[in-house]
Amino acid sequence: MKKLIIIGGGASGFFLASNINSNKWETIILEQAKSPLQKLKISGGGRCNVTNACFIPKKLVKFYPRGSKELLSVFNHFQPSDTFEWFAQKGVNLKIENDNRVFPESNSSQTIIDTFIEQANKKNIEIDYNSTVINIKKINDKFEIITTHSTYYADALVVATGSSLKMWKILNQIGHTIIPPVPSLFTFLCDDPLIHNLQGISFPEAEIHIPLLKCKEFGPLLITHWGISGPAVLKLSAWSARELYNLNYKFVVRVNWISETFDKVKEALIQEKENHPKKSIYSVKLYHLTHRFWNNLLGHLQINDKNLADLSKKDINKIAESLTNTQLSINGKNTHKDEFVTAGGVDLKEIDFRTMQSKLIPNLYFAGEVLNIDALTGGFNFQACWSEAYIISQYLNSLN
Ligand SMILES: Cc1cc2nc3c(=O)[nH]c(=O)nc-3n(C[C@H](O)[C@H](O)[C@H](O)COP(=O)(O)OP(=O)(O)OC[C@H]3O[C@@H](n4cnc5c(N)ncnc54)[C@H](O)[C@@H]3O)c2cc1C
Repeated sequence: MKKLIIIGGGASGFFLASNINSNKWETIILEQAKSPLQKLKISGGGRCNVTNACFIPKKLVKFYPRGSKELLSVFNHFQPSDTFEWFAQKGVNLKIENDNRVFPESNSSQTIIDTFIEQANKKNIEIDYNSTVINIKKINDKFEIITTHSTYYADALVVATGSSLKMWKILNQIGHTIIPPVPSLFTFLCDDPLIHNLQGISFPEAEIHIPLLKCKEFGPLLITHWGISGPAVLKLSAWSARELYNLNYKFVVRVNWISETFDKVKEALIQEKENHPKKSIYSVKLYHLTHRFWNNLLGHLQINDKNLADLSKKDINKIAESLTNTQLSINGKNTHKDEFVTAGGVDLKEIDFRTMQSKLIPNLYFAGEVLNIDALTGGFNFQACWSEAYIISQYLNSLN
């Protein structure tokens, strides 16, 4: 029987192993840690956001800042609906939440881990823990894989090591180009007085813009202890991951807290002034803004407790400008605890996406974060792992 070695007992490695034909391939997973799937265990806040309920490959690829073009054919083979079916066949029901994220009904990543371990056991897959691969050589048609305490030989080799600097170095030594890794999916640090003591306040429809990079995102935004977070910020961090790294995470953003135009807000304030001249500016309720935010904003603009009748044109302009175009200085990044990934990795030009095989070294395959592919938050990163690993398994299973 031919030998297959999978380096990395993470999401992609286990999904591949779970789909391999064990009558054709004697498979070993080499994992450096003492237990498997550690990242998956903590994923999605411990619930594992397995995939996203986006079932149209052409739409799905739009969630991948890096890899969207290449993934289209991959998702045409295995996409989120296949993920649902795959897990259902193994007795794991998945549920879709309001924002389209998909989780196991158990709400526990352990369900997914147990499923993978069960599949690997059924297929008699050997899992060698505490086995860090330190070198890979191609000797004639075989791979020689050297770990910290042993040497293995394989006919086919899959690298599924996630974001590992050491593995990227090894891959570079055997000829692959590595796009330098930088973090993606992070939140922005900001200590502007406008947002001091406002942690926990969210804006369901904000627009955030980085003028220097001419990029903009729309969606929920959250004020945290350290700055700003939420889907709008995470999306911006992913699409501009490399540019923000180059700026050393020091840049200016402009926030439209309510996604409304300056003129419309101005009009609404003038209307309010006409309708309720005796009302205090502090008691005005506009755009469902919280009192805490509104009071902070007025204090910041030094608009004292005036009645609406006493608001000057300048005051109205200042409020409208602040609600639609606040400038915040960002002075660093913070990790988003539920999901983060690395942008960068093996250059996609060197991969044949029909099989996930290296174009440079035959019988060498890649799946998961080791590739220069990453997605927005929402289950898309795991979906790429499942789809890529599935393609490899089907190809290997089809070989004589
Ligand atoms: C906190 C957090 C939460 C997340 N939540 C989600 C989520 O809910 N949904 C989602 O879609 N994505 C999520 N992600 C992203 C997702 O976890 C990754 O995209 C995914 O795990 C990548 O899978 P992988 O198989 O490529 O790598 P990994 O899952 O990282 O697995 C790689 C494995 O290779 C092993 N390894 C590395 N080098 C070697 C070596 N030299 N020798 C032997 N073994 C080695 C590692 O120990 C590891 O076990 C989250 C990420 C984080 C950090």
